[in-house]
Amino acid sequence: MAKYVFVTGGVVSALGKGIASASIGQLLKARGLRVVLQKFDPYLNVDPGTMSPYQHGEVFVLDDGAECDLDLGHYERFTDTNLSRINNLTSGVVYETILQRERKGEYLGRTVQVIPHVTDEIKRRLQLPAELDPGIDVVVTEIGGTVGDIESLPFLEAIRQFRLESPVQDTLSVHLTLVPYIAAAGEIKTKPTQHSVRELRSIGIQPDVLICRAEAPMPEDARRKIALFCNVPAENVINAPDARSIYEVPLNFHAQGLDDLICGRLQLAAPPAELEAWRRMVGIILNPPDALRIAVVGKYVGLKDAYKSIIESFIHAGIPNRVHVELEWVDAESLEDRDVGDRRLAEVFAGCDGLLVPGGFGDRGIEGKIIAVRYARERGLPFLGICLGLQVAMIEIGRDLAGLPRANSSEFDPAAEHPVIDLMREQRDLKQMGATMRLGAWPCVLRPGTLAASCYDAPEISERHRHRYEVNNAYRERFEAAGVVFSGLSPDGRLVEMIELPDHPFFLACQFHPELKSRPNRPHPLFTRFVAAAAARLRARNGSAAAAS
Ligand code: GLN
Repeated sequence: MAKYVFVTGGVVSALGKGIASASIGQLLKARGLRVVLQKFDPYLNVDPGTMSPYQHGEVFVLDDGAECDLDLGHYERFTDTNLSRINNLTSGVVYETILQRERKGEYLGRTVQVIPHVTDEIKRRLQLPAELDPGIDVVVTEIGGTVGDIESLPFLEAIRQFRLESPVQDTLSVHLTLVPYIAAAGEIKTKPTQHSVRELRSIGIQPDVLICRAEAPMPEDARRKIALFCNVPAENVINAPDARSIYEVPLNFHAQGLDDLICGRLQLAAPPAELEAWRRMVGIILNPPDALRIAVVGKYVGLKDAYKSIIESFIHAGIPNRVHVELEWVDAESLEDRDVGDRRLAEVFAGCDGLLVPGGFGDRGIEGKIIAVRYARERGLPFLGICLGLQVAMIEIGRDLAGLPRANSSEFDPAAEHPVIDLMREQRDLKQMGATMRLGAWPCVLRPGTLAASCYDAPEISERHRHRYEVNNAYRERFEAAGVVFSGLSPDGRLVEMIELPDHPFFLACQFHPELKSRPNRPHPLFTRFVAAAAARLRARNGSAAAAS
């Protein structure tokens, strides 16, 4: 029988509920328990795949092709497990399921209602992971949104019912709140937490554990006050001050006995948490001997959540390289001005030892990205292109090396004279937007002797995709003649998955998203080698600077 932990949040959003849930999962896994994390999102979209990054941040993609909330990325990274589409549920999916049933007449003439039909469906989905895999010890379910939202009520009601129907030792409610510091008064305030818990209790859920987010740890008297007013034992009020690294959060929780508390309350017999390797890893993240800078030329540079997994992948890749990777965010459009010229480019990239062009959609900033790729190619600056980054590299090389001055992607110019990036036939007649891209894990065969093969040290790999457009095979020979090596192909040879340029310190691009599979304890080989190439360039630069002085 699996045990259930529910994580809700109150007062404000963006408290780090996802990190808190992932940290609980990490700690329970470190105690030898089998844990699965899932997220219930109250919005009505079926999945975030159709939402703008400005609305939702990054869309995280799983092996099975599910387009998910970015918190699933944190779950996978913290617990080093691969999740599936059942681990992210939206109100949209709940209603879709119910309405399909209703149209089939499965409700046998009854009125379909929020209670019991919606809540029953939520309860079914709550238990689905453990039903499909009876070996699971703990299911941690995070409820998106903030307690008090109208949208999240059916989810909280389902949890209330589920808790009532389950033995007390089988479920645990964790509530995350904010304890703000009011500078003018010079004190922290517990009232918002009291209100948030009152709200939760009015729905019928008494939290067992409170995780209090604050800038700094709370004084003991504040903790006791929260305990008293919120009806929880003082030791169940956990301090969650801002951490230097998100990977430090499980260690902070552990230091306050949170995993003991959860195991005790759920009557889980588990050995003490094995955290040595994690602690060492966090030590390196917090005290890297060196630092280097990598430019990210993108479109959503004002919104870091749009590149969450890339940011994390660089933190991971810094660990084996013993460096802290600072990211220099460059708005692609700012490079497009015709007067920018080489001098300005040299200024923009002056302190950078690598260039990354991440994924993206739409034509805004494309020419700026092409200019950036050209700069990296010509100056020997290590370059990694991801998805759109590969497509842009193909356009740049097409125009400059392969004699195709009007090379473009048909995404940006449907009438392009040389559509070196184009839609495959399967994508042409699609009318529906949601879940119709090339999504999820696809195998890729690496060409022996290439940089790609040496990074992975394996003949075949599997990586996650999310795109519609592909390299146009009609131009492959021209590119090969221009020096491009197609180092990764689909097993049938029809899809180009990776390209590289041999006469360059590191020029590699992939059609998939390696950042979706990087884990702190298993950094992604492409990021690791890219950062290593940047570190080598920095050393060479420092060496020649030292020699010159
Ligand atoms: N817009 C491009 C496509 O659809 C690239 C997508 C991406 O970078 N994820 O193919």
